[in-house]
Amino acid sequence: SCEQTLTGPIETTLCDFETIESVNNVLYDQLHELVQTPFFKYFRVDLYRECPFWEENVFCMSKDCSIVTVDESEIPEQWRAGTLSKLESSEDNRVELPGCYYRDSDFCFLDDMTEGDYVDLSLNPERFTGYAGISTRRVWKAIYEENCFDEPESSLSKMSKQGVVLPDTMAEVLYMDGEIPHEQCLEKRVYYKVISGLHASISTHICHEYLDRTTGKWGPDLQCYVTRIASHPERLQYIYFNTVLLLRAVARLGPYLSAYDYCASGTHEEHLATYSRLEKVLEIAKLAGKFDETALFKGENANVLKEEFKQHFRNVSRIMDCVGCDKCRLWGKIQITGLGTAMKVLFELDEKNLDPRLNANLLQRSEVVALINTLHRFSESLHAVEVFRRLWRESNAEE
Ligand code: FAD
Repeated sequence: SCEQTLTGPIETTLCDFETIESVNNVLYDQLHELVQTPFFKYFRVDLYRECPFWEENVFCMSKDCSIVTVDESEIPEQWRAGTLSKLESSEDNRVELPGCYYRDSDFCFLDDMTEGDYVDLSLNPERFTGYAGISTRRVWKAIYEENCFDEPESSLSKMSKQGVVLPDTMAEVLYMDGEIPHEQCLEKRVYYKVISGLHASISTHICHEYLDRTTGKWGPDLQCYVTRIASHPERLQYIYFNTVLLLRAVARLGPYLSAYDYCASGTHEEHLATYSRLEKVLEIAKLAGKFDETALFKGENANVLKEEFKQHFRNVSRIMDCVGCDKCRLWGKIQITGLGTAMKVLFELDEKNLDPRLNANLLQRSEVVALINTLHRFSESLHAVEVFRRLWRESNAEE
């Protein structure tokens, strides 16, 4: 099956990978241009909040872990935190927590916009940083353990109360690195796939932009990809799964995204190009975003399960404050926000909510930016898979 992952499409009954593969080149090109534009490349993030669950004292000091920030004066006035918080303070259903908050429908905690730095995402790509070891194991373990739905209390709330330090062996990690038990309900399996797919996408980026420490050169490392992804074909399936989920959310958001104002910076021609690229992304999303959100949260305990699902996913967004490498934390936060926004769109909002004329303030700028950048990251991972397939064929031809 590793062979299959490396040579071509993989078997999956859950998502139409062939459609995704046939559109991904165009999708990737459009997204890649979009995320270089001022609207989509500037993101405000608070990277210096304490880990709320355990005492995290591992910090990656490598220069590859650090990020370059941008002075506020470079950010168009309309997108600055001060202006945004004035607009957002009118919202009445927020639950405030130190440094962050959520609204009832949110699947993740959003940083309080009065703290943090502006980052130019295009200058801080997700790639190999060298962040590894006890800290990463502890964070991934905590994220997967949020899958314990039937626990009356989330494992994290317990941990934070008891101050438990996690053991660093992977052997005991629930569901990690294996098949999802069949008896699990659809929603729990979806949760696992979203997380495992995110993990696999991050690993794909690491292997695609890997630093060969002996030569000092950056480039794709086939062995890294074989070890982390190709030898576990379901991980690649979950990258497709996340891509389809995100595309479906973008398709549902189509009218809202088309009506959004991206024009605080740039020329008229640049604005036209942005809207035209976005329309192409929306066309592809309509064609390939075949995720059926109506199949979830419809049983007897649907609402209870949805609240639990949301709570667990929100906890994952807080675990991101425990990631001991700035660049990894940045992309962890963005992608959890992007996936959380997609889930909100799919599971919480009906057509009326999504109508830009009725609900112009449906999403914050940070949610729109995170959603498009997250889709870009997944599309980029699938693009990288093509590179690894080519390298695999070449290495076989040489033998
Ligand atoms: P890990 O990737 O740490 O995995 C640990 C264990 O989890 C594996 O041994 C395996 O049992 C299981 N596992 C692995 N993948 C999956 C999967 N897809 N599904 C299910 N189980 C799985 N490092 C960087 O270089 N650059 C980054 O940008 C970066 N971003 C990160 C963001 C976050 C949120 C986190 C927590 C870590 C990040 N890291 C990053 C670290 C990176 O993910 C790895 O942890 C690190 O490279 C060490 O890898 P590893 O081989 O020990 O396995």
